[in-house]
Amino acid sequence: MADSPRDYYGVLGVSHEATPEEIKRAYRKLARELHPDVNPDPVSQERFKAVTAAYEVLSDPEKRRVVDLGGDPLQSGGGGAGNPFGGFGSFGDVFEAFFGGGGANRGPRSRSRQGADALLRVELTLSETAFGVRRDIAVDTAVVCETCHGNGCAAGAQPVTCASCGGSGEIQSVQRSFLGQVMTSRPCPSCAGTGQQIPHPCPTCGAEGRVRARRTITVDVPAGIEEGMRIRLSGQGEVGPGGGPAGDLYIEVHESPHDTFTRDGSDLHCTVALPMTAAALGTDLVLTTLDGEEKLDIRPGTQAGQVITLRGKGVPRLRSSARGDLLVHVEVRTPTKLDDEQERLLRQLAELRNEEVSVGSVRGGLFARMRDALGGNR
Ligand SMILES: [Zn+2]
Ligand SMILES: [Zn+2]
Repeated sequence: MADSPRDYYGVLGVSHEATPEEIKRAYRKLARELHPDVNPDPVSQERFKAVTAAYEVLSDPEKRRVVDLGGDPLQSGGGGAGNPFGGFGSFGDVFEAFFGGGGANRGPRSRSRQGADALLRVELTLSETAFGVRRDIAVDTAVVCETCHGNGCAAGAQPVTCASCGGSGEIQSVQRSFLGQVMTSRPCPSCAGTGQQIPHPCPTCGAEGRVRARRTITVDVPAGIEEGMRIRLSGQGEVGPGGGPAGDLYIEVHESPHDTFTRDGSDLHCTVALPMTAAALGTDLVLTTLDGEEKLDIRPGTQAGQVITLRGKGVPRLRSSARGDLLVHVEVRTPTKLDDEQERLLRQLAELRNEEVSVGSVRGGLFARMRDALGGNR
């Protein structure tokens, strides 16, 4: 529901032919009158927002072009950002460009900060990922310094108020701007904004409040976990600066390739190669599955490419009692070297079955079509 395009030129009180300089001047003049510090009443604040939005649009050649074509770059369908005033993102940009940083988040920040997450890779075999495993894993992360318990001070010492900023964590300065004098502030460089200094740092961690350490944790890998999945161990990641709360530890699972099986989710695939005669006559095979030896019944007349499905012999599904299947793909090996006797027997067989080589066993189908395509009619 687009409103009619707003009159941005009218809001700023400039003509459609105004130069960028004139637009800037008009905005400065209005912003001086309507700035929330000067005029906190709601009506002025609304006008201030409208004026700032108009300036944002008209100071941007792309957006100004949209306006000149009768559109509204701050409305959906107008070729620009969807919401009025272009959201607080762009509004804030303009505001900050003119008035310096925003007014929120004042005061010293805590010395202790949230720690980062840590990531560890672990290599598991197929049967470990399939059925789950309990693993002891060596973890190398920042931990809370035992000497100072995270406060960063030598024994008996305490942090003191920062002399540079008086404990506020910020240094303020007054700058002249077109609005008059503007107070700006930045984090205090002496104390990194914390408002505190540590005159006697802990000898173990050098006031960091944390040290690196190796420890062993026990991880229960659930059955059915897959390549690339991550196990989250809450609060086992890096301890933050100043002994801040630890992030999380992620254990990323990598499954080492299996000699026989390839995995597709909870299904397993493998290939068995049969001699031509075994495929024709049928046979029994013993296949070593994840559950042990399994008899595989090859029916007489088994074809190359046939798939034998062993239901429930795949991988358990994660957090479920169901299991995938084991799919056995049959390959038929045609003999490549025949001695005279073997060749004679095969020819005899072919003859008995009316499968002489010159005719082939393909009736119509691909073989005949190939012959036609080559232009021969026999
Ligand atoms: Zn320490
Ligand atoms: Zn300071």
